Formats: sequence, C-alpha cells, structure tokens
Amino acid sequence: MKCHEIRNLALAYLDSELDAKTSQEIQLHLQSCGECAQLFEREEKFNECLSKVLGVGQPTPALWEEIESRLRHQHRSAWLFPRWRAVALGSFVVLILAGWLTGLIGSRFGASSLDLAQAVVKDHREFLQGKITPEFKGALPDEVAKKLGERLDAAAFDKIPSTGRFRSEGARLCHVGGVPVAWTLGRYDDVPVSVIVFKRSELEHFPKTERRLETGEPIVCTRTGHFQFAVRFAGDHVVCAIADTSKQTLEDLVRSVL
Ligand SMILES: [Zn+2]
Repeated sequence: MKCHEIRNLALAYLDSELDAKTSQEIQLHLQSCGECAQLFEREEKFNECLSKVLGVGQPTPALWEEIESRLRHQHRSAWLFPRWRAVALGSFVVLILAGWLTGLIGSRFGASSLDLAQAVVKDHREFLQGKITPEFKGALPDEVAKKLGERLDAAAFDKIPSTGRFRSEGARLCHVGGVPVAWTLGRYDDVPVSVIVFKRSELEHFPKTERRLETGEPIVCTRTGHFQFAVRFAGDHVVCAIADTSKQTLEDLVRSVL
C-alpha cells in the first residue's frame, strides 16, 4: 500500500476495525515509513486526549492546543481535516450538553470507554517499565493465599493462557479499581502481556464492561492508547489481557484461557 492509502485507513486502524491482514500491512509500513508513523502516533495521542475529555466533560489545555495546531496546519494535513471538524464540533457541544452527550459521542470513541481497560492500562505500563514485577512463580505461596480473603480465590491464579506461545514470567496479587485480581505477567511470542483474572461477582465495579459482556458478546475488545485489550467470562471469573499487539492475537490469547 502507498502512504496515502495507509493514511486513509488510520482511523479504522486505531479503532481496531480492520482485518488482521490489513492491520499487519499497516504495521509493516509504519515500521519503515517515519512520516506515516509520526502521523499515526499524533492521531493516537489526539484520540487519547479526546477520550479523556469526553470521559470527564472538561476540555484540557492539551486538547485546545492540538485543535489550534490542527487549524494552523490543516492545509498540510488534509487527511485529518474531516476528523478535526467532527472533533471540534463534538467538543463544543460537549461543553454545553456535557452529561447528555458524553455517552453518545463517547461510544464513537470506544478506545477508552471501557472502564476495565482504563483501569488496567496504568499498571500494564508500569510492568513494561519494570516498576511492577512478579511476586512469585509457579504455585500460589501460602503467604499470598492468606491475603486473598472472600473477594478473590486461588483458582483465579490458575487461569492463564494455555497457548504454547504464551510464557508466564510469574504472577502477583494486585488491586484494580479497588478489586483484588490475580495478575499474571508474561510474554506472547516476545510481546509483554498482562493477564488479569478476578471473580465475576466483582464485575459490578466496572459497569461499562459488565454491560458489554452481558449483551452476550463472547469477547469484548477495545484499544486504549497503544494497547489492545480483550475481556471475556471464563466460568465464575472474568479474564482480560492487555498488550501492544493486534486484536486477533489478543483475542486468541484470551480465548485460550481455560
Ligand atoms: Zn508512508
């Protein structure tokens, strides 16, 4: 594909709407084309910024700066213009009808509308930076088991991907949005992955995710920043994973948790 074709697919790509083959073609192109890579990165940052605004109904200085800079540069990046217009209009209306519109427009920017994805992304970043490391490897040690209490069971730590391409580097007990979870840190091929498991009865703490899963979707996916996120029910547990990889890869990974 040529640069302009790649750029035309930017929004669909960032929203994970493309098939695996096209996504891969784009990934390959971005690895070799600095200019496209930069444009994609900019668009992704803008998306994140916008999602935050829509989430809280308040514009941030960064968003206004971005909108202003887009106004100044629109003749140079024509491919972004229709999007910019939609976004600017959206932002103004949100200011006036914040509460009512947040849900409506927010659904278009699914990237960060999934509360569970938002809750795990920060810890996953810390894992990538080495700030979060595994507490133990293999069987659950007694001293960790003692800390579990009523809200998390030892079985949650056994729920890890069964695919041979996943390698666990260990696990730890964490809290996500106040919910105790079994957090397994590992790699899928060479990509760092976080697998998070908790009791289904705790899902009420993530109402948006709960609503999506209870409509019967077998796996709910979203992108948040660079990361792909996927979540599903596995018996009495909720299993989710996050990694810088394709939607297809992460779906396969989450599906392989028994
Ligand atoms: Zn290019």
